[in-house]
Amino acid sequence: MEAHLSPSIIMRVHEFGESDLLIHFFTSDKGRLKGVAKGARRSRKRFVNCLDLFSLSNLEYELKPKGELHFIHSGKLVDAYPGLRHDFSLLSKASYMIELTEILFPLGVPDSRMFEVLEAALSQLAQGIKADLTLIAFELMAMSLGGYGINLEKCCVCGRDYLSEGIAAFKVEKGGIACLKCQHISAVSPQLSPPTVKALKTMQSPSPDVFRLLDWAEDLMEEIKPVLKRHRDYHLGKHLRTADYLE
Ligand SMILES: [Zn+2]
Repeated sequence: MEAHLSPSIIMRVHEFGESDLLIHFFTSDKGRLKGVAKGARRSRKRFVNCLDLFSLSNLEYELKPKGELHFIHSGKLVDAYPGLRHDFSLLSKASYMIELTEILFPLGVPDSRMFEVLEAALSQLAQGIKADLTLIAFELMAMSLGGYGINLEKCCVCGRDYLSEGIAAFKVEKGGIACLKCQHISAVSPQLSPPTVKALKTMQSPSPDVFRLLDWAEDLMEEIKPVLKRHRDYHLGKHLRTADYLE
């Protein structure tokens, strides 16, 4: 069996057997995996702090066929994101990011961009700056990478191209925007103005650099929030345990 090294984000940690830990981790190159760290509760030498929840670590593990538990041989901590650990609100947001990633990405499906986005989001969150904005941007990027991007190119009813002029309405069951001829604005079809559509487009071209540049006006956030909530509830609502708590 070959040993494999991957930068990994620790997603879940469970006690396993008498002295082992069962670790869920998201790797840069092999997607989301589960593995056993033998004896990790008895001797911490091979795993100095590298298996702590939400940490970024380089893990060396034995690759197993799909669906099986991998053996984690050793690890080296890269970043513990200490800022997350003293703030309950930041920790909750990190939990939500992890849960969303689990729902969107099945075991063993590699997505290096998702890894970069999650890493950048945790890093930004740990600094405690613009935490709400970071979370919203993360959700939009993760949903887009997971196949639930909002269609912003044209009216989802008549097919007319959206030319970034004028207000559009969000139509949740179509997962896209509609022109005002096809859909009037209401509580169930919230409005999106051109700057908001532009910001959504940026978020749906996911890049870890975006987090450092986040700078949205308050009115823009107020438009994005109800749209994102409806979009998320419609597609993922019943699966998400931590979402309600955040609101
Ligand atoms: Zn239309």
